[in-house]
Amino acid sequence: MDRKEFIKIISGASALMTLGSLNTLANSLERTAQKMPVLFIGHGSPMNGIETNKFSQTWLKLAKEIPVPKAVLCISAHWLTKGTHVTAMVKPKTIHDFGGFPQALFDVQYPAPGNPELAAETKKIVSSTDVGLDHDWGLDHGTWSVVRQMYPLANIPVLQLSIDYNRPAQYHYDLAKQLSSLRNKGVLIIGSGNMVHNLGMVDFSRLSDADYGFDWAIEMNQKFKTKILNRDHASLIDWKSMGKAAELAIPTPDHYYPLIYTLALQDKNESAVFFNDNAVGGSLTMTSVKFG
Ligand code: ZN
Repeated sequence: MDRKEFIKIISGASALMTLGSLNTLANSLERTAQKMPVLFIGHGSPMNGIETNKFSQTWLKLAKEIPVPKAVLCISAHWLTKGTHVTAMVKPKTIHDFGGFPQALFDVQYPAPGNPELAAETKKIVSSTDVGLDHDWGLDHGTWSVVRQMYPLANIPVLQLSIDYNRPAQYHYDLAKQLSSLRNKGVLIIGSGNMVHNLGMVDFSRLSDADYGFDWAIEMNQKFKTKILNRDHASLIDWKSMGKAAELAIPTPDHYYPLIYTLALQDKNESAVFFNDNAVGGSLTMTSVKFG
């Protein structure tokens, strides 16, 4: 080996070392964000967005217990689309997508910022479909009714990911798995829906009862919890095979699919912790779960 060749090898090795150190630095920077849990939250009535009650108080308490997220990414039951889209605007508007509620609910503005960079990253990490960058939607009540109670200062960026309503549960499960790296970057992923959600059968005279569920609703609530605890994701994806009570609990899957997203993001070592485990109006459950 002559001198020239030796210098070539040495300088190559030191370049490699520098690259290695840079990688380590980059990794350690990413690790400075604490891994965020994943939440499925039963949102129930839009009034939970302005009332101080058992459900909304639990949301606030939870927000104080978990690390402060760098951003929230919410899969709301109220944004059903063809294809999958992520909100990519700087200032998402507050959407009042309901009728027949008091003016106070229509007056709510939740001015949390968006995060176009995170939207672009979300698009990048999902390879199973071309996620659209959306500039029209905003924050619907499935998102803001929960998030404004958790983070009343509206100082944390909030994004929504839509639900491609032409697709089955397995598709959503597979898509959600691709979002897992966001948890390590301080993104709080929330699925906002209701496990048992049959609006047509709500007993409005019993809405204010603390915990009132029809037999089939209570049966399904128990079944859902057992399957979640047993990590039986396959059965939960195949909810159509769960019998008559499941048909009543999930007449349409809009409020159920957000749960599927959160199940997909549960890591192997993470257990399920339930909260707001109550039935409302007979045919709804507020039952929620935290993973991690
Ligand atoms: Zn809803």
